[in-house]
Amino acid sequence: MKTILITGGAGFIGSHLVRHMLDKYPAYRIVNVDKLTYAGNLENLRDIEEKPNYEFVRADICDYPRMQSLFAHYRIEGVIHLAAESHVDRSIRDPFAFAQTNIMGTLSLLQAAKTAWEGAWEDKLFYHVSTDEVYGSLSEGKGLFTETTRYEPHSPYSASKASSDHFVRAYHDTYGLPVKISNCSNNYGAYQFPEKLIPLFINNIRYNRPLPVYGKGENVRDWLFVEDHVRAIDLIFHQGKLGETYNIGGFNEWKNIDLVRLLVSITDRLLDRPRGASEKLITYVEDRAGHDVRYAIDSTKLKKELGWEPSLQFEEGLEKTVRWYLENEEWLDRVTSGEYQLYYEKMYGTR
Ligand code: NAD
Repeated sequence: MKTILITGGAGFIGSHLVRHMLDKYPAYRIVNVDKLTYAGNLENLRDIEEKPNYEFVRADICDYPRMQSLFAHYRIEGVIHLAAESHVDRSIRDPFAFAQTNIMGTLSLLQAAKTAWEGAWEDKLFYHVSTDEVYGSLSEGKGLFTETTRYEPHSPYSASKASSDHFVRAYHDTYGLPVKISNCSNNYGAYQFPEKLIPLFINNIRYNRPLPVYGKGENVRDWLFVEDHVRAIDLIFHQGKLGETYNIGGFNEWKNIDLVRLLVSITDRLLDRPRGASEKLITYVEDRAGHDVRYAIDSTKLKKELGWEPSLQFEEGLEKTVRWYLENEEWLDRVTSGEYQLYYEKMYGTR
């Protein structure tokens, strides 16, 4: 039985990945290591927690001795590393936490993998899940990020992810660690913590709260359904070339304000509200510091080499997502209480 360590498996993308791997590869043992920060939630995995080939370990990836003992104890052969501090706004307020987990945590895992696998690299793999934000910002309507685009991160979040990508490559080039990296665009789907735009806005529409749009809402993002990201990770993990980077994106660019209008219209319809009723909630707020203008991914390499394509049209994926949040209101209410509520009030006041 092959044992794979998935880090950050209680988070948004990680929980989809753990479920996907357990469903598709019953012969694998999946060890999910997660610190359970505000963003990690074991409820995201309730349906699979009893599976015999699944193990959850609560641990901080920065704890190097602990990571070393996990590699030895479980005889880990593959790593898919997703654990991270992932929210740009939080990184602007607390960059140290981002450097700690995203850089030092990745380094601790790399070193644990290297010491466990040294001299026996065959059939081992360290796969790092990263973001397109490492490439910086594109100007309006011009160009796409490719795998050879120069790194030019602007936020503390993207700087920490860029740094972790560099460490992953350095371990490959210096020590021969078998690695792969993917850089993906913005994900959406079920179980995303409602500080991120799509679940935050669905929740706010539900409660008739303002929908805070940065600047004029002109920034452009490329959106991908989380299950399509997970399928891409699976393909790259199993069939991608060692030492390579793959960009993942849906060729699906949206101006923030257009996305918000679409989201409002779908949510209003599903809530049986008159068409456009919640548009009045749209509130323009001061732009995010250093806000990147546009992200857009060229995923041609992934399509050509591994035959991956997104499975859903955006409108279809978005409707599926809104339905999920509306059908899981208890989940939304529980995760938006406590620590998150304090953070929300700090960011947006009590409105
Ligand atoms: P998330 O914030 O939902 O989940 C992160 C998980 O990591 C949580 O379960 C959290 O408890 C865990 N974690 C945080 N610090 C930890 C630590 N020190 N030790 C152990 N566990 C820790 O994030 P996500 O949106 O699922 O993103 C997962 C990964 O994918 C991240 O590396 C992120 O950079 C990358 N990514 C995300 C997106 C996106 O749109 N969400 C796009 C591209 C890449």
